[in-house]
Amino acid sequence: MQANIITRLLFMERCRLCHSPIVNESCSAPKAVCPTCWQEIMSLCPSLELCPLSGGRSLFIASGAGYHGMVKKLVLKLKYDGDCLLAEDLSLLLARAWTLIAAKDENGGPGLVPVPLHWSRLFRRGFNQSELLSKALSRSQGLACLPSALRRVKLTTAQLDLGRAERFANLSGAFQGNRKVAGGACLVLVDDIYTSGATLSAAGETLLAAGARQVFALTVARAHIS
Ligand SMILES: [Zn+2]
Repeated sequence: MQANIITRLLFMERCRLCHSPIVNESCSAPKAVCPTCWQEIMSLCPSLELCPLSGGRSLFIASGAGYHGMVKKLVLKLKYDGDCLLAEDLSLLLARAWTLIAAKDENGGPGLVPVPLHWSRLFRRGFNQSELLSKALSRSQGLACLPSALRRVKLTTAQLDLGRAERFANLSGAFQGNRKVAGGACLVLVDDIYTSGATLSAAGETLLAAGARQVFALTVARAHIS
């Protein structure tokens, strides 16, 4: 009996924020963040809104949280450590924002399109955090995940080092849409963070040019935009 308790403690997930053991048994609760930290995250989440994507012609975006504090820590941990359990938890923030888009889609059942990485970056990192998030959301909401709708064909400079106008220019010709998958479809681009909107609008415009009927964007978090 005591050995069982020790084994449980050893293999118990620990909160990625406060390192306390996670004892939440509910299957819909976060798995990598303890209930106390999660409650704090949710209490700081802004009210949801579907807004025009900065720089996008006709694209609307919804984000589940602000990009700061604990959410920022978790997003960075997912991006640099590939912690799959965190993708599951952060997809709960995507699901929160998803409700706004679900209400706008007249035909139901849109497909999720993760913002792709260039193959060389994917090779180096070993995973695409946007794809992990899309797959987690697709499982929880019963939506199709369509990574083949979009390819990243240009290796671009890291956006962080660029000014706003340069960010948009940097993304020119970066994506290629797949007409067979995107044609006539309602698609939802999924990414971790919304900063300048340059990546999402370039990806969205590419999907529209490939024949998509409608494109929305959904991110875990939104940075303050200057
Ligand atoms: Zn915690």
